[in-house]
Amino acid sequence: MRKIAIVGGGQSGLQLGLGLLQNKYHVTVVSNRTPEQVFNRRVTSSQFMFHDSLQNERDLGINSWEKKCPITEGIAFTIPGPDKTRALFWEAKLSHYGQSVDQRVKFSGWLKEFVKRGGNLVLQDAGPQDVDAYSKSHDLVIVAAGKGEVNRMFERDASRSPFDKPMRALALTYVKNMVPRTPFTAVSFNLIPGVGEYFVFPALTVNGHCEIMVFEGVPGGPMDCWNDIKTPEQHLAKSKWVLETLMPLERERCDHIELTDENGILTGRFAPTVRKPVCKLPSGNFALGMGDVVATNDPITGQGSNTASKAAAIYLQRILERGTKPFDAQWMQESFDIFWDYAQWVVKWTNSLLVPPEPQILQLMGAASQIPPLASRIANGFNNPPDYAPWWFDAAEAEKAIQMASRSGT
Ligand SMILES: Cc1cc2nc3c(=O)[nH]c(=O)nc-3n(C[C@H](O)[C@H](O)[C@H](O)COP(=O)(O)OP(=O)(O)OC[C@H]3O[C@@H](n4cnc5c(N)ncnc54)[C@H](O)[C@@H]3O)c2cc1C
Repeated sequence: MRKIAIVGGGQSGLQLGLGLLQNKYHVTVVSNRTPEQVFNRRVTSSQFMFHDSLQNERDLGINSWEKKCPITEGIAFTIPGPDKTRALFWEAKLSHYGQSVDQRVKFSGWLKEFVKRGGNLVLQDAGPQDVDAYSKSHDLVIVAAGKGEVNRMFERDASRSPFDKPMRALALTYVKNMVPRTPFTAVSFNLIPGVGEYFVFPALTVNGHCEIMVFEGVPGGPMDCWNDIKTPEQHLAKSKWVLETLMPLERERCDHIELTDENGILTGRFAPTVRKPVCKLPSGNFALGMGDVVATNDPITGQGSNTASKAAAIYLQRILERGTKPFDAQWMQESFDIFWDYAQWVVKWTNSLLVPPEPQILQLMGAASQIPPLASRIANGFNNPPDYAPWWFDAAEAEKAIQMASRSGT
């Protein structure tokens, strides 16, 4: 039986670990938290996932919260104008619904399920030496430790990482009692040029349904406002203040909101980074990176968990296809390259929204408010960002996409 070690029990690590167990591999997952610690910690993400990624979980029978979790049917995009007006607006349904299950719920549940299905769970905050040790006792070691320090074993790929500093000041606020959006549930995305973005959508958290408010402030601007916050109450008050001041349309839904729990808040910032996927260890063995370790995206497009899920699905397939041959450095690089064929578009598209938008992006967003098929195409691209190529990135192609959508009628 082939032995695989995965350092990091998150979206990609546990999805892959559970998939390998189903295929009769001997799997070790190294987690720096027990299931109870995961459940009782602070929130880590807004983790909204689109259809194809949710399907990866269904395929493995690990979609345990699908029936309990509220569904999100579409995407709405607003540029607010002064005094409660909408300067630009479109909304479109997704072909299939999306969902967000609080990672505290999902990962604690998956860790328990992993053990129940015969996985070897090791509780350890693994460092580079531990990774090397696992490479000696296992046929393959994969590092899926998210934004954990250990990811620094993998060299930053400067050619694929255009930013060397955080592009947004981030905050999450998990709340109850928000007035539901009408006429359908959606990721309600608001953009204030030069100031930042706010988006909000339904989710399942530790104590039932909630809405997750995500704030993305341009550094140094009015939404970069979380540094002095000391208590959860202050965090909630600041969340309301941002809406009151900058997005009054969204404020209207929030008269009675309260935090889901004291841990339903988060602030932070990080630089979007792509890393080289293969790390040579002191023993001469190699480790392969997966998920955020190799591609950390800003949450502005809600892609990190989706991309981690797709990485895990690709690596699972590659491992199964490898049979009994060695997992050498060349196989690792090729596995990443297949992932990168997909992920490069996630990175490019996400990064395009972190800087003042190219003229064709503004043109596309404006046209989408007049042409529903274009709004639908943009909304559904979130499920599979390679669909944005080439028209998102090129003025002539954008024009063609607009023409094509307007000809296809409503
Ligand atoms: C504010 C915010 C909002 C977000 N919103 C979305 C969204 O709406 N949609 C979306 O798709 N993505 C979103 N993301 C990103 C998403 O959460 C991550 O990209 C995704 O979880 C990455 O999966 P992963 O498997 O690479 O790592 P993770 O899911 O982060 O898992 C890594 C695990 O490894 C553990 N670990 C770390 N270091 C060690 C160590 N040394 N030893 C052992 N274990 C270790 C960690 O505790 C963690 O459990 C958001 C992120 C942030 C910060």
